[in-house]
Amino acid sequence: MRVAVFSAKRYDREFLTEANRAFGHELIFHEVMLEPHTVTLAEGFPAVSVFVNDLVDREVLTGLSAGGTRFIATRSTGFNHIDLAAARDLGLRVARVESYSPYAVAEFAVGLILALNRKIHRAYNRTREGNFELDGLLGFDLRGRRVGVIGTGKIGRVFASIMQGFGCEIVGFDPFPNPAFEALGGHYLTSAELMATSDIVSLHCPLTDATRHIVDAEALAQARPGLLLINTSRGGLVDTLAAIEALKAGRIGGLGIDVYEQEASLFFRDHSSDVIGDDVIQRLVSFPNVIVTGHQAFFTREAIDTICATTLANVRAFEAGEPLLNEVRLS
Ligand code: NAD
Repeated sequence: MRVAVFSAKRYDREFLTEANRAFGHELIFHEVMLEPHTVTLAEGFPAVSVFVNDLVDREVLTGLSAGGTRFIATRSTGFNHIDLAAARDLGLRVARVESYSPYAVAEFAVGLILALNRKIHRAYNRTREGNFELDGLLGFDLRGRRVGVIGTGKIGRVFASIMQGFGCEIVGFDPFPNPAFEALGGHYLTSAELMATSDIVSLHCPLTDATRHIVDAEALAQARPGLLLINTSRGGLVDTLAAIEALKAGRIGGLGIDVYEQEASLFFRDHSSDVIGDDVIQRLVSFPNVIVTGHQAFFTREAIDTICATTLANVRAFEAGEPLLNEVRLS
């Protein structure tokens, strides 16, 4: 099938081209994002492939539909960037990569905790300047600390089991409790109890209307002083301005984010020669106890291999009229 691949970076081309040997689709790569003024690039393509910051709203979907597109394969687990109601109305079908490597994201979340707690990012800069001073680098033992997991799905459970290996006490909040989380030794609390009693909170739930700003000013006010907050899920889960206020007031001890509410206009591109107009991200990166990464938690060889193979298999299943196992639609 002919597939227009948007937001295609060098690594997308490489891994998709390699995976496509087993499928034989015709892949046309576009480095640009899918958005209203690039939608014509998909004209005549029955399938398009998108990534997390492509704008797949009603306007774009209407343009895709007018150009003959019938299938959207997102190279991600999350699908909050796609207007599923509009896709249904227009008869477009959507599939995602339901699961690739929960280890990639969970391990990265742990990496952010270790770096923030032990100030590894600061030590790295210091020693390059010949500064071997320890003042300001004091951390705490993870052993015995309480770690709150919001969203105890695939990634949340892998994260919980790694943190348990450090000797942490694991608590969770999820409207759909999972016995597998309890089997790991975790126990469920309300979100307020979790926020009030955890030393570390890591977000692993999807972004939905119910979870937008799940960590807001009120939640941060309840948090245990010195909280390390980790978000490798979606930027919209955290009210960034409230987090900045909590950091300024010294109420939270550290913030590690791989995702950011306004990331679409910044992430996955080199802005090192630009004047960045986003004062919020600039304020965030100015804190010594904040680490911002550019949505790289998924970025391992194993994860990309699976993302590419699953995306191309989704296209083949659609083309062949087979059941679309990874379809997403409004329930
Ligand atoms: P999953 O579906 O296995 O688990 C999500 C869990 O969140 C489920 O247990 C669900 O019940 C729970 N949940 C739903 N609503 C909730 C709420 N209101 N409060 C608390 N929990 C709630 O998904 P997963 O594979 O574990 O992925 C989790 C998220 O990680 C994805 O939605 C995606 O946004 C994010 N993600 C980020 C990256 C990255 O590179 N940074 C990569 C992959 C996934």
